[in-house]
Amino acid sequence: MFVTRFAPSPTGYLHKGHAFSALTAFEAAREAGGRFILRVEDIDTTRSRPEFEAAIYEDLAWLGLAWETPVRRQSEHAADYQAALARLEADGLLYRCFRTRREIAEAMVSAPHGAMDVFRGAPLPPAEETARLAAGEPFAWRLSLDAAARRLGGFEGLGFLEEGQGAVAARPELGGDVVLARKDVGVAYHLAVVVDDALQGVTHVIRGRDLFEATHVQRLLQALLGLPTPAYRHHGLLVGPDGKRFAKRDRAQTLRSLREQGMSPADLRKELGFG
Ligand code: GLU
Repeated sequence: MFVTRFAPSPTGYLHKGHAFSALTAFEAAREAGGRFILRVEDIDTTRSRPEFEAAIYEDLAWLGLAWETPVRRQSEHAADYQAALARLEADGLLYRCFRTRREIAEAMVSAPHGAMDVFRGAPLPPAEETARLAAGEPFAWRLSLDAAARRLGGFEGLGFLEEGQGAVAARPELGGDVVLARKDVGVAYHLAVVVDDALQGVTHVIRGRDLFEATHVQRLLQALLGLPTPAYRHHGLLVGPDGKRFAKRDRAQTLRSLREQGMSPADLRKELGFG
């Protein structure tokens, strides 16, 4: 059974780009006779707001979409993410990172071969780690690419990133040692997405090209956690008249302001190529 999802974060109002993404996934599910899931990615409790979540339901219903209920909200499933994190930790694939953003930027610039574009770190010596933990210093959990490569015997076996266009091999090293649990929030985006896609039986991840880079690391996490790998389709991003992609800050292009300006869902669907 074909299962796909639209997974917005309630950190702002949905705009035309979201509408395009949601419609692309929704129509793909309909054409395949499959299921369409809506998932609310609200693990970032510092930025998520209930009024934005309410607006997601309202805007998508206005657009004519229907989804299964109950909707999975990431903030209600911390135990699932903690279990995945604990498994990776038990497998020796994570390390605690106490560095601040500034220290990370400095480490990247002073790397032996000039500036690194991504961060690669290492666990602290045990005595220092124990002391910093005892002092109550906050830390993030990072995935060790070195440990992951050892575990999998390299990354060649991860396969390709895009359905139907197999040319781009997964290269998680491009993302560096990603954070899987933040200092302030107990989990980070990549881990929550991979766990949820697997738990929800998602067979096709259909999302914008802005998330293409994320797919490299998500493929790696699936391999390390023994999870099935969905097929990925990354659609092109809509741009406004100024040639820039829509962003949550562009108030005039939010679905609610288009609605207030008198646009009908049929007009918008047509404009987005779903007429
Ligand atoms: N929650 C992410 C976002 O709003 C999307 C995650 C995904 O589709 O994998 O950008």
